[in-house]
Amino acid sequence: MTSDRYLLDQPPLTAAELVDLDEAVARLLGTTDEIVVVQAEAILTLEAVAKSLAAPDATAVNVVTGPYGALFGDWMRSSGATVVDVVADFDRVATADQVEAAFAANPRATILAFVHAEAATGGSNPVAEIAAVGRRHGAVVVLDAVASIGAEPVLPTEWGIDVTVVGGQKSLAGPAGVSAAAISDRAWALIEANPAAPRASFLSLLDLRAAWIQTGREAVVGTPNTLESRALLQALSRVAEEGIGGVIERHSRARAATLAGAAVLGLETWQQGSLGFAPVVTALRVPASGFDVSAALGGIVSRGNGPLAPLLVRVNHTGRRAARVDVQDAVSRLAAATGASASEASRAAAATAAAWDGV
Ligand SMILES: *Cc1c(COP(=O)(O)O)cnc(C)c1O
Repeated sequence: MTSDRYLLDQPPLTAAELVDLDEAVARLLGTTDEIVVVQAEAILTLEAVAKSLAAPDATAVNVVTGPYGALFGDWMRSSGATVVDVVADFDRVATADQVEAAFAANPRATILAFVHAEAATGGSNPVAEIAAVGRRHGAVVVLDAVASIGAEPVLPTEWGIDVTVVGGQKSLAGPAGVSAAAISDRAWALIEANPAAPRASFLSLLDLRAAWIQTGREAVVGTPNTLESRALLQALSRVAEEGIGGVIERHSRARAATLAGAAVLGLETWQQGSLGFAPVVTALRVPASGFDVSAALGGIVSRGNGPLAPLLVRVNHTGRRAARVDVQDAVSRLAAATGASASEASRAAAATAAAWDGV
C-alpha cells in the first residue's frame, strides 16, 4: 500500500544494512581503515574527531581556509590542546610552505587538520602536498572531505591521511543526517591514549568502536536514523552505478563550463591565483558596479554565506546539479546580472557548452 506517508512505519535498520554502509564508505574511499558511521550530520563527526584526538597536552597544526577549519581548531582548543592556526585569506587556498613553517615553529605538533574543498569560497587546498608535510613531521593527518567527496578525488591511502570525514549531502547527492570517518590505526592509537577523549557521549568515537566494531558489528547500537541511513546507502549505490570517476568528471565539467562562461562575461573568480578552484562550487566575485545580484539568484546560483553575501555569488554545481542544463542556466542568469548584450550572452553560452564538452 502506498500513501503520502511512505516515510513512516519503516522496518528498523538492521545490523546487515549498517555493515553494508560501512563497506560502501570504505569502497568509496578506497581504504582498509576502520569506518565509523555516525548517526548525525558531518559537523558532529568533525567535533567528535577533534575532541577525540586533541589531548590536553597535545599541539596541533590547524589550517583555516574557511569556517569549518576555524571551528575544528576551536574544538581542539576546548579540549585543552595547543592549536596553531595556519590562516589563509578566505580568497586563497593554503600552501604546503605555510604548513611547513608552522611545523618548523612547533616541532612537538602531533596533529595536522585541514579542510580539502571549501564550498563557501570555491577553494580546494593542495591536499597531497599539505598531507605530505604532516606525515614528514610524524603527525596524525585529519582531512575534512565533506565538500570534496564526489566532486574530486579523495585518496586517503595514497595521501597518507589518518582520519577522513565525509558526508552525503554535497556532491554525493545524498542525505545530511548520517556521516562517516575513516580512521587509521595510528589515529586510533592517539585517541586511545587521550584521557580526555569523549566517553559515554554522543561524541565518543571510542564508545562506537567498542560497541559496534570491536563486537563484530552484529548488534545495532542505539537507535539509528533509519531513513537517513537507507538514503545514504541508496546515494552511495547510485554513485557506484555511475562510477565515482563519472561523478567526479561531471563536477569537473561543471567547474570548467562555469569558469568559461564567467570569463566571457568578464566575471572574476573569488579564489585568487590560477590554482585551487573547487569542482564542488564555483565562487565568483561580485563586481564593484554593474552587477545586479538579484537577477543572478535562482537555479544553482546563490549568494555568499554570511559576511561573504555582498562579496561573492556561488554557482552550486553540486551533486545532481553538476549537470549541463543547470550550468547553462546559471551562466544565463549571470549574463542577465551583468546586463550582457544578447550577442555577449550567446557567446558566454557557447563557451560554457564548449568547455563542458572539452574536459
Ligand atoms: C558542508 C560541510 C561540512 C558539514 O556541515 P554540515 O553542517 O554537516 O552540513 C563540513 N565541512 C565542510 C568543508 C563542508 O563544506
